[in-house]
Amino acid sequence: RFELAKAKRSPSKLRCPIICIMGHVDTGKTKILDNIRRTNVQDGEAGGITQQIGATFIPKESLLERTAQLNKGEWDLRVPGLLVIDTPGHESFTNLRSRGSSLCDLAILVVDIMHGLEPQTIESLNMLRSRKTPFVIALNKIDRMYDWTENTNFPTQETLSLQKDHARREFQDRYDKIVIEFAEQGLNVAKYWENPDPRTFINIIPTSAITGEGMPDILQTLVDLCQNRMNERIQYVPAVQCTVLEVKMIEGLGTSVDVILINGKLKEGQTIVVAGLEGAITTQIRALLTPQPMREMRVKGSYIHHKEIEGAQGIKIVATGLEKAVAGTSLLVLDPEDDEMELREEVLSDMKGVLARVDKS
Ligand code: GDP
Repeated sequence: RFELAKAKRSPSKLRCPIICIMGHVDTGKTKILDNIRRTNVQDGEAGGITQQIGATFIPKESLLERTAQLNKGEWDLRVPGLLVIDTPGHESFTNLRSRGSSLCDLAILVVDIMHGLEPQTIESLNMLRSRKTPFVIALNKIDRMYDWTENTNFPTQETLSLQKDHARREFQDRYDKIVIEFAEQGLNVAKYWENPDPRTFINIIPTSAITGEGMPDILQTLVDLCQNRMNERIQYVPAVQCTVLEVKMIEGLGTSVDVILINGKLKEGQTIVVAGLEGAITTQIRALLTPQPMREMRVKGSYIHHKEIEGAQGIKIVATGLEKAVAGTSLLVLDPEDDEMELREEVLSDMKGVLARVDKS
């Protein structure tokens, strides 16, 4: 269904790419996400970063501002922003790891430079490879190396050039070891500014989520990767493409599902079809909700209601009968010309695929 609709995609309109952060526990996934969001809090709404359901939206303006020292204002940025999935730190992250990675256009694989490759690094790596999800590697915690001089929010190459010789040498030694560890996994990797062939070598970006060093490089490298290599994938398609992240009860509202709307538009009142543990569920959208802007986040339980909303976005959908909906599956819209039975079969076959993947991982 969605495959057919791809014909209608608009080459001139790119949607924001969906990014997820993966890696071994304690490598700094949450801290990297926090660092990306911290600008939020500082800039308030000037930066325009918004908290969404299950995701954070980083608009173009904020990307330009955060990368200015790196690209000196000369950067052809064509995506409207980045949508970063908030899975790290989530209590059901273990399950979401496999669901999240199939939803994502791109991933950041985080490796602790002090530890190298760890069991969940390899697990994430294999998951990304089996889904053919392009990714970059954040070689995190560079600030922990002996006698490191911190240069807050500096691009990686600049901060490296400002280090004392022995700190730079330690970095190179650790980096060389990690290159070998990746080679043992059958993967060619290279510092992104020395990458001999971006089609066969994965970019490594040395970072510190604490000092912000290398964070401009991560943002810019991610955007460049999708603009240069995945242009077709991120062209906006008007057909609805939507994935359920989580099923939730909300006091006073009833059942809801948190979803990522990747493409297309959802409208209040529309009929939707979702996979459920006891069969397909057909129901009506009663409300489309997003959180309040940053400054009003503390007003607990209050949401903005939308008549309609366009992807890519994180949204809460309120509807009856969603208790048994299955996270990780597709949500379809039943238009008047559609055959309901066909759609119900489609969501169930999608669920089988998701459950098989969860079992495997
Ligand atoms: P996660 O389990 O991958 O989400 O890891 P966290 O983001 O929770 O980080 C684990 C620990 O490492 C925390 O104590 C962080 O403060 C710390 N940490 C994360 N990134 C960095 C970094 O770049 N430098 C240093 N020094 N510590 C970091």
